Amino acid sequence: MFAFLRRKKYRLGKRIVIIENRSKAIKFRIKRIRKIIIEIFQAEPIFSKFPRLVIILWDTDMKQVASAFNPDIIYVNVAAVTHGGTLFDTRSDTAIYDELKPTMIHEMVHLVHYSRNKGLMMYKERYTRQVLGDIVRLMKTKSFETTIEQSSKSLRTTLNVFLSKIWMEGAARFLQNLYVGRLKFDEDNFRRLHAAAESLVRQAGLAFELINEALAKNVLIDTNALNKFLQKAEAHLAGFAISESYVIGEHIFFSIRYFDSNIDDDNLLDMHIYDIVRKYERLMLKNGYLPVLSLYSGSGIFDYKRNILTLAHFLKKAQQN
Ligand SMILES: [Zn+2]
Repeated sequence: MFAFLRRKKYRLGKRIVIIENRSKAIKFRIKRIRKIIIEIFQAEPIFSKFPRLVIILWDTDMKQVASAFNPDIIYVNVAAVTHGGTLFDTRSDTAIYDELKPTMIHEMVHLVHYSRNKGLMMYKERYTRQVLGDIVRLMKTKSFETTIEQSSKSLRTTLNVFLSKIWMEGAARFLQNLYVGRLKFDEDNFRRLHAAAESLVRQAGLAFELINEALAKNVLIDTNALNKFLQKAEAHLAGFAISESYVIGEHIFFSIRYFDSNIDDDNLLDMHIYDIVRKYERLMLKNGYLPVLSLYSGSGIFDYKRNILTLAHFLKKAQQN
C-alpha cells in the first residue's frame, strides 16, 4: 500500500516545510490534516525559527504530537487526531486547528530549545546516560539487588532528572500557553500558577522529608529495609518528575517574565537551569514571595542542596549501621 502522496514540500516565504505521510489514514483525511498544519505554521511565529522543518504523519499508540532529538522533525499522530475517522469528518477545521496548535507549539519549543541551548543537551545526555547505566547494571547483575550506595546515587540522579524536566517541560508548557493566548502577565495568573506549583513541590519534597524524619527518629533498621526506603523515595520523586514538572516549571518561567520584563523568550531558552532557578529565587524574594524551588540558598520550599545533604546524612548513618 502506498501512503497518499508520501512527501510533500511547501514553500512558505523563505522557509521549507516537508510533510511526510506514513499514516494509513484515507486520502481526504490526510489532505485535511496537512492543510490545517500549514495554517498553524503560517499563523505562529515560532515555526519560522527554522528554515526547514519536517512533519511526519504517522499512526501510533503514543501521544498526539511528539518530537525527537532530531533537530527539525515533529511527529503528528494521525490515529489520535482522527480518533478513528467518522467523528473527525464531522468536526470543523477550526476545532481540529485549536486542538493541534498547542501541542505543535509545545513540541516546536522543545526543538528550538534543543537547538539553541547546548547546556541543555549536555545535561540531558549526562543524566540519561546515568539512568541507562543503572538499567544496564541491573541487567548484568540479573537481579534487582542493589547496594545502598547505588540506591542513593540513583536517587541523586533522579533529583537531577527532576530539574531537567522542570527546565524542558516548564519552558515548553509556559511558551505553549503564552502563544495560544492563555497567559496574561497579571497577578491572578501569577497567584494561580504559584499555588499550583507550591502544592506539587510540597508533595515532591515528601521523598526527602520522609528520609529526614527517619533520621530524626533514628529508626535505622537493617540495610535491606533502608535500601527499600531509598528506592521508594526515588520512585516517588520520579513520578513527580515525569508528570508534575510541567506545572512547576511553568510557574518558574512565568514568574521570571512577570517580575523582569527585560527578559524575552529567547533569553529564557538560552539560560541554564542553574541560572534560571537562581534568577527565579532572587526575583521571588525581592517581591516578597516564597520560592518553590532553590538550588543552594535554602530559601525555597524544595532546596536542591538541602535534599542532597539529607541524602548524604542518611547514607552515612546507614553505612555506620
Ligand atoms: Zn514536552
